[in-house]
Amino acid sequence: MTEKKEPKKKKEKVPRQAMPAQEPVERAGNFEEVPLGYPPETAMLEATRCIQCKDPRCVAGCPVGIDIPGFILAIEEGDFARSIRILKESNALPAICGRVCPQEDQCEILCIIGVKEEPVAVGRLERFAADWEMAQPETELPESAEPTGKKVAIVGAGPAGLTVAGDLIVKGHEVTIYEALHKPGGVLVYGIPEFRLPKEIVYYEIENLEKMGVKIIYNMVIGKTLTVMDLMEDEGYDSVFLGVGAGLPWFMDIPGENLNGVYSANEYLTRANLMKAYLFPKYDTPLVTGKKVAVIGGGNVAMDAARTALRMGAKEVTVVYRRSRKEMPARIEEIHHAEEEGIIFELLVNPARIIGNDDGWVTGMECIRMELGEPDDSGRRRPVPIKGSEFIVDVETVIVSVGTGANPLMTKSTPGLGLNKWDYVEINEKTGETSLPGVYAGGDIVRGAATVILAMGDGRVASRAMHAHMMGEELVFEEEENGEE
Ligand SMILES: Cc1cc2nc3c(=O)[nH]c(=O)nc-3n(C[C@H](O)[C@H](O)[C@H](O)COP(=O)(O)OP(=O)(O)OC[C@H]3O[C@@H](n4cnc5c(N)ncnc54)[C@H](O)[C@@H]3O)c2cc1C
Ligand code: SF4
Repeated sequence: MTEKKEPKKKKEKVPRQAMPAQEPVERAGNFEEVPLGYPPETAMLEATRCIQCKDPRCVAGCPVGIDIPGFILAIEEGDFARSIRILKESNALPAICGRVCPQEDQCEILCIIGVKEEPVAVGRLERFAADWEMAQPETELPESAEPTGKKVAIVGAGPAGLTVAGDLIVKGHEVTIYEALHKPGGVLVYGIPEFRLPKEIVYYEIENLEKMGVKIIYNMVIGKTLTVMDLMEDEGYDSVFLGVGAGLPWFMDIPGENLNGVYSANEYLTRANLMKAYLFPKYDTPLVTGKKVAVIGGGNVAMDAARTALRMGAKEVTVVYRRSRKEMPARIEEIHHAEEEGIIFELLVNPARIIGNDDGWVTGMECIRMELGEPDDSGRRRPVPIKGSEFIVDVETVIVSVGTGANPLMTKSTPGLGLNKWDYVEINEKTGETSLPGVYAGGDIVRGAATVILAMGDGRVASRAMHAHMMGEELVFEEEENGEE
């Protein structure tokens, strides 16, 4: 953290600076990034809105504890190199987090400026500093410690695994990532679409890790070709991190889900993103998208699928969600962007069955209207069907986005690995250690589908513990360091 100062007095009222963005009509027809980023003068002006709180509430809302006033002050002073250095002390992937973190529920919701006006645009400023760094001819890479002779295996090249890799290579360990797919990045690459997170940004961060010495072995499914036990016993790793995510799609279990033209959002987005179906015929990946598309669900994944379908050529895309707008789990910004692009929202509606023709292709969907009843276990009001309100909509493609769970491939082939009742890996929350000594886990395979920054936070917790375990050191927790027992 930078030295604490008195909060500064605001000289004049500066409104929150708008983010320049591609026009809705133009962007609905291309896969280029929608928000364009602040130019330097806008970033410096927005940075003046931060009053440099002595006890910054925003930091308490950040899962990785970024020194937010510190990096913003550096932007205000035009010292962008200092700004990115401060960010990278706590966050290895700021260009990614600046784009996809739900800041409105984390740092920004707590910002003191937000009490009377709109909060400081922390996320946009984070993105600015990271983009500035990427535009420089040389990137300053952190120096690694002397080699320790210890070997670490990481399973999965998503944000959790990449964070562990970055932390442990700097400590002087030999780091190898085993990745099931032919590209790294996890959901950052195969899930989140290009127009929200350009893949070159993810690859830039990963190339930096490789320059630092991290090895990545692709097309290697741990649990099939090699097991976790093989890694520990035969391959001689001193510690293993499991960051395999939770990519097994759920379906609704309604009639017609096996018809042609029904996709899980995961499959649809993977074909479009990772396999570049949107560049067909240059890339030979088929992705049949009808003129009328229904996307079932109300989360970020549903918004991504709906906006991707539009860009794949659909003329009408409808999001069908069984609760009301207030309960939609998607980020406000994503809902707003989807609406601007012309996505239709059918709220308080649930599909009852998907209808097909004699050739097995989708032709329609029967839905039923819902009303909200008492809150359920999630605290949200339970949707209850309204009798007799059934109706049929014409659709040719249905994309199901009702959540994902743990893929059993790795977990079930690892004897002794403690799992909870949903088959997610159980860990010690303070260390990330699983029931198997020397084996750690974090990210979606522990939490269920969550966020990038939480996966990275888990990676950081585990990497500290893995380092201590391998070096035979006692692990000192932050609260003990600060004298709080
Ligand atoms: C479409 C979509 C949009 C999203 N949007 C946002 C957003 O805007 N903001 C946000 O914060 N979060 C978002 N999320 C959630 C976020 O992406 C995840 O929470 C995060 O990526 C989890 O990170 P992870 O490292 O745990 O797993 P993942 O990103 O899932 O990475 C796991 C990696 O492990 C690999 N793997 C799996 N099994 C094996 C195996 N047996 N052997 C070897 N490798 C294996 C996978 O191929 C993958 O590369 C979104 C998710 C999706 C699907
Ligand atoms: S971002 Fe907001 S809460 Fe954080 S230091 Fe600045 S003014 Fe204070």
